[in-house]
Amino acid sequence: MSGRDVLVVGGGISGASFAFHAARAGRKVLLVEKSERVGGCMNSIRSDSGYWFELGAHTCYNSYGALLELIEASGQMENLVPRGKPVLRFLDGDQPVRGKNLGLLVKLFGKLEILCALPKWFAAKPSGLSVRDYYSRLVGPRNYARVLGPMLSAVPSQCADDFPSDMLFKKRERRKDVMRSFTVEGGLNAIVEALVAHENIEVRTACTANQVTRLPDGFRVELDDGSSVETGLLALAVPPNAVARLLSEASLDLAEQARKLDTVEVDSLGFSVDADRSNLPYATFFIPLADCFYSAVTRDVVPDPNRRAFAFHFRPGLTREERLARAETVVGVKRTDMSDLQERRITLPSPTIGHEQVVREIDSLLKGDSLAITGNWFAGLSIEDCALRSQSEWTRVGG
Ligand SMILES: Cc1cc2nc3c(=O)[nH]c(=O)nc-3n(C[C@H](O)[C@H](O)[C@H](O)COP(=O)(O)OP(=O)(O)OC[C@H]3O[C@@H](n4cnc5c(N)ncnc54)[C@H](O)[C@@H]3O)c2cc1C
Repeated sequence: MSGRDVLVVGGGISGASFAFHAARAGRKVLLVEKSERVGGCMNSIRSDSGYWFELGAHTCYNSYGALLELIEASGQMENLVPRGKPVLRFLDGDQPVRGKNLGLLVKLFGKLEILCALPKWFAAKPSGLSVRDYYSRLVGPRNYARVLGPMLSAVPSQCADDFPSDMLFKKRERRKDVMRSFTVEGGLNAIVEALVAHENIEVRTACTANQVTRLPDGFRVELDDGSSVETGLLALAVPPNAVARLLSEASLDLAEQARKLDTVEVDSLGFSVDADRSNLPYATFFIPLADCFYSAVTRDVVPDPNRRAFAFHFRPGLTREERLARAETVVGVKRTDMSDLQERRITLPSPTIGHEQVVREIDSLLKGDSLAITGNWFAGLSIEDCALRSQSEWTRVGG
């Protein structure tokens, strides 16, 4: 058994942000992460040549104020790389539809349906409505089902129909001194790596936290290597189903609330190819109108003269063979052309109407507790939502 000021469970951006706040306040932090690497959904694949692409998150914006504060504090501002103009294309079967971005969206919409929906534009409010209900009012149900629904599902890499509509996009203040959209050298994972490199943080990867027990002055957490850690302050930065399991003995009320929140699994597959192998036009996102994947994201906005890379985010239930075959057909390459092939199953929150109420309940149960819970399932799924949640949880329990 070992003791620590702060134990953080989960090494994604939420856990790393929380650990960094604690570490720079002078606390000794242990961060445990189930997989072999930190980063979670921020998963940059790097080859020996220096080429990299993203299997997970790919873009940050100058509206990510809480994240930028952490980037600055960890000395990474000079590593920011501007991203080129995002280009969105639709795929109809195996073929890209001609055109791009907003122009293409307008071209694909049924015009009569849009005209009929126009009068509702002024009265429609997103609050309390699902994504499907709100956007169907704006563009008509058929336009939503055929075009806008697939596009909005590409954003969270899962069917977004039942999401609370005000959770998908948020207006935030932009920092004028920072490029509008950016990544960092070596990919976004470098942000997490730099945060947990703080001298007060010890990272243990390939280490799963199994069970939390409350002690009179803190917590004991059992790890899967048979050891346990005692800590005065515990932060859980894992998906809601993992929180429910970890707290099933220590906090029945919190576990019960976390269990109410749905999660989905997404199978991501990524690879790079020689630039001249694929005939797919330049694009940041390929959105299929109806297919077995939600989106294919590219490395095109940080171009490389020699290589291109694609990351597909598949619906659950396909075999590996089916995923590979579909990627081969869409990109127009053979398996033997693929380098840096990577596959990963990720757990994502899948919020529905009522999510906000459960989160409020969790926050009210946490009042006065030295337990922090953070993650991409509080205010929203974006990296900034994670950084903001970790910041406010740190302020509550340790600041
Ligand atoms: C494909 C994709 C693309 C995205 N693109 C963008 C984007 O461009 N911009 C943007 O802002 N957002 C994007 N997002 C969203 C954003 O990246 C994620 O919501 C965010 O990174 C989640 O961070 P997190 O730390 O909350 O969770 P995660 O990244 O899921 O981290 C949780 C970590 O906890 C670990 N863990 C779980 N259980 C245990 C346990 N018992 N013990 C120890 N460790 C455990 C997991 O292995 C994982 O590493 C994207 C998401 C995906 C999936």
